[in-house]
Amino acid sequence: MARIVQKYGGTSVGDIDRIKIVAKRIKATCDEGHEVVAVVSARSGVTNELIAKAKSIADIPSERELDQLLAIGEQETSALTAMALHALGVGAVSYTGAQAGIFTDKVHTKAKIKTINAKPIEKDLKKGNVVIVAGFQGINEEGNVTTFGRGASDLTAIALAAALKADKCEIYTDVDGVYTADPRVVKQARKLAEISYDEMLELASSGSKVMMSRSVEFAKKYGVIFEVRSSFNHNPGTIVKEEVAYMEKVVVRGVAVDKDQAKVIVSNIPDKPGSAAKVFRALSDSNINVDMIVQNVGRQGVANLTFTVPQTETAKAVKALKPVLSAIGGGQVTIHEHIAKLSVVGVGMKTHSGVAATLFQALADVDINIELISTSEIKISIVIDQARADEAARVAHTAFQLDKA
Ligand code: ADP
Ligand code: ASP
Ligand code: MG
Repeated sequence: MARIVQKYGGTSVGDIDRIKIVAKRIKATCDEGHEVVAVVSARSGVTNELIAKAKSIADIPSERELDQLLAIGEQETSALTAMALHALGVGAVSYTGAQAGIFTDKVHTKAKIKTINAKPIEKDLKKGNVVIVAGFQGINEEGNVTTFGRGASDLTAIALAAALKADKCEIYTDVDGVYTADPRVVKQARKLAEISYDEMLELASSGSKVMMSRSVEFAKKYGVIFEVRSSFNHNPGTIVKEEVAYMEKVVVRGVAVDKDQAKVIVSNIPDKPGSAAKVFRALSDSNINVDMIVQNVGRQGVANLTFTVPQTETAKAVKALKPVLSAIGGGQVTIHEHIAKLSVVGVGMKTHSGVAATLFQALADVDINIELISTSEIKISIVIDQARADEAARVAHTAFQLDKA
C-alpha cells in the first residue's frame, strides 16, 4: 500500500463528465490498495470569471474579499468530486484548505504556506476515506481565507505530499508531461522523461504554466519527487527530481514564453543614491514581484529605470510609485503591456559557452529586436515584442536543436 497525492487541474475537472472521469481514476488507484489524497483545481475558466466579476465592481478589489471569492472555485470541484466518488461506492470527504490544516502568512492573493496540520487528513485516511482537498487556498492566523496565486493548486499538492510523507505525488493535467516548449505553441516540442528541479523552476517562473513555480521551489526544498502526466490518457509523464550529473550534457532543456508581464519605465528620476532603493522598496512594500531590471546611465542628473512586473499588478505598481516619485523629486511612469519574455533554460549552461550568442543570432536572423536581457547560471531571458513571441520560441527551439530527439 502506498500513500499517493494526486492533483487534477482545471481542464481535468472542467465539467461534470470530466469530474466523473477523475473520480473513476481515483477509484482505480484506491482499488489497487492505495491511500489517496486528491487536490483539485477550480473548473477551467471559473477563477477567471470570478476575477472578472470582482473587477467589474472595483479596479483594485479588496484582496481579503478576492481571496474569499476565489476560494469557492476549488471548493465547488472538491465537493462535486467527493459526490462523484460516493456515486461509485467510494468513501470520500472533501476539505477546504482551512479544513485541511493549511496555515499561511497574512499576504492575501499570494500567501505562503507556514505550516500544515496533517492530522485531520490522516484521520480520514485511516478510516478508509479518500480525501479531496480544494487546492490553492489556506487560512491565516486571523482566520481569514487566503489564496496562493494563480496555478497554485500545484502548491497545495506538493505541500500535502511533503506533510503527509506521501510515497508518490502525481500532477494530472491536460498535456502528457513537461515538454521542451509549450506544445500548443511549438509543434516540434518533445516530452521530457525527466527534468531537474532547478530547470523546472526556471521554466515555471519564466512562463511555462505547466507547473506553478512556487510549487517546484517547495518540492525542491522538501525533496518531493513528482510526476507531471495527463488525466486524459495513461501515458508515462515527466519525473521532476534533483539534478544528476548526466543532465548537464544537454545545454538547453527547454524554452518558455511569458506574455503576462508588463514593462514599466520610470523615467527622469534624480540620478542620485537612494532613488532606486526608494522605487523598489515601495514596490516590495506592496508585494509586487519585480523581475528584470535595467537602469540606464544617468544624463544631466536624471536616469531611467526599466523593469518588468506581472501585468495583473501594473495598476498596483502605478499606485505604489506615485508617492515615491513626489518624494524623490520627479519622474514619470509609463507601462508597456505588449511585451513578452522569452527564456531558454538548461543546467548544461553552467558548463557550455555561447548560449547567449546562439540565441541572439537566431533572433537577429528573423529580425526580432531584443529590449531587455537578464541571465542566471542556467537561464537567459529576453524581452521582445509580444506579437512575435511564439515565432521567437519556435526559432529558439530550433536553434538549440530541441526539435530533434
Ligand atoms: P492545469 O489546469 O492542469 O493546472 P495548466 O493550464 O496550468 O494546467 O498547465 C498546462 C498547460 O501548460 C498545457 O496545456 C500547456 O499548454 C502549457 N505549457 C506551457 N509550457 C509547457 C511545457 N513546457 N510543457 C508542457 N506544457 C506546457
Ligand atoms: N484555480 C486557480 C487558478 O486558476 C488555481 C489552479 O488552478 O491551480 O489559478
Ligand atoms: Mg496549472
